[in-house]
Amino acid sequence: MNYTVEKTLKINSDFNLKENPQTGYKSLWANANFKAKQILTDFSYSKSFKKPTRFTIQLNEEQHIELQPIHLQYINHSCSPNVYFNTQKMQLIALREIKKGDEIVYFYPSTEWKMTEEFLCTCKSNNCLKQIKGAAFLPYDIITRYEISDYIQRKSTQAYNNLPFKNLN
Ligand SMILES: [Zn+2]
Repeated sequence: MNYTVEKTLKINSDFNLKENPQTGYKSLWANANFKAKQILTDFSYSKSFKKPTRFTIQLNEEQHIELQPIHLQYINHSCSPNVYFNTQKMQLIALREIKKGDEIVYFYPSTEWKMTEEFLCTCKSNNCLKQIKGAAFLPYDIITRYEISDYIQRKSTQAYNNLPFKNLN
């Protein structure tokens, strides 16, 4: 036998955390059914940083927050997300129906302008973007297909409109 059994930790009636004992890699899973647009949980933060880390969520130019409850920081990326972080209402919201036992996944560039650690996505969805570095590196017509934070919406629109002027400099 050459496979690893993931450890499952029950967080509460809504979430389970899974951990691969070999890699320490964690992921968050639904422990209940959620409807599209349903609020999975409210969130807040304990600390805020000027620079992103691999576990922070970006609120604006200078605020990268450490999420509370902390298990939310283990939500992994997918190019076909089932939740998004509404950073104005501070709510984690379902983009589509989520079944008990589904992994909870969000689109990192929906909150992150420039990520601190880029990676090659292996989410296997048809629209997988492969290299994930942040919204700053995505074409406007791609990023706007997603539910994105108010901050990313403003930054993307600004970058899109400013491009010809920057090129003239
Ligand atoms: Zn992907």
